[in-house]
Amino acid sequence: MNSKLLERVCNAPGVAGFEGPAQDVVTEVLQECCDDVQRDRLGNVIAIKKATTPPANVERPIRVMLAAHSDEIGMMVKHINDKGFIHFIQMGGLNAQVIESQRVIIHGKKPVRGVVVPKTQGKDEKPATLDDLLIDTGLSKKELSKRIDVGDIATFEDDASLLNGKMWVGRNFDDRIGTYTLLETMRNLGDTCVDVYAVSSVQEEVGLRGARPAAFGVAPDIGIAIDGSMARGAYVEDHKNLCEPGKGTGIYMVDNLTIGHPGLVRYLFDLCKKHKIPYQRNIGGGTDAQAMQQSRAGVIATTVGAPVRYMHSTVQLCHADDMDSTVTMLVKFMEAAHEFMASL
Ligand SMILES: [Zn+2]
Repeated sequence: MNSKLLERVCNAPGVAGFEGPAQDVVTEVLQECCDDVQRDRLGNVIAIKKATTPPANVERPIRVMLAAHSDEIGMMVKHINDKGFIHFIQMGGLNAQVIESQRVIIHGKKPVRGVVVPKTQGKDEKPATLDDLLIDTGLSKKELSKRIDVGDIATFEDDASLLNGKMWVGRNFDDRIGTYTLLETMRNLGDTCVDVYAVSSVQEEVGLRGARPAAFGVAPDIGIAIDGSMARGAYVEDHKNLCEPGKGTGIYMVDNLTIGHPGLVRYLFDLCKKHKIPYQRNIGGGTDAQAMQQSRAGVIATTVGAPVRYMHSTVQLCHADDMDSTVTMLVKFMEAAHEFMASL
């Protein structure tokens, strides 16, 4: 487990549509281990590591695209009222109960700290909705106007840290644990007969808007999204989420947007058994795999990733061993991807 890299990747802000700081970290790491790194017009970072042992007598090596989304859920300033309280809109799916009482950082001309507070208070009232919440910075409208403006984005203040044992906690493990896994996989890749494309996509949380054009540009044969698997936690019954933190990487069979390619899913199960990599079956979620699967004339696709508890909260939990298992599986898969294609 590369704790330093995980912290660096998670602590860079990157709300949907404003992924720049996170993508800067990604670009720097990929430049050290890939043959070429580009950023496209939407902000997707697309790196390629060419086949080291390309097969003879073929037009081009098989292309495998790995995609992890760099955007995290957050807010945008919509209005600053006369008392200096800030109205905001959500960027990605926020839950009012989760974000009330959280600390945030508004990324204006200068960063401004604030807290999310309800407009009203009273025991008998209905649970708050996002429209009932404001950001209080303790500053007057006049002071605020010097530092922030409508359209500035806000992230939650929480940085990634080790909670207990090997369990990490972070505000944006959906999907920075995927970003981390993507980078570690590229850094540890051995010889391959396939060209490996690492894509750090943008705007996944608002509808896979980055991965679609990225997949069109790459034109992969196989696409694997890396994202958190649905994990059981305090409030989730066994039959609702299948994965348990600490018990292995998750391999998506089906989610709300994609039916994983059954041949690829089976191959990954067998690969894990062969190399004694702990894995679990995941059902549920919705990821960039759909954007890849339905690109051009269709792509063989599924999603993998360590289980994450409490996704879309500010206290997401993920186990170090599961991130390691995901990296090991992806490295082994890249080394064997040409054999998988030949077996179809
Ligand atoms: Zn995600």
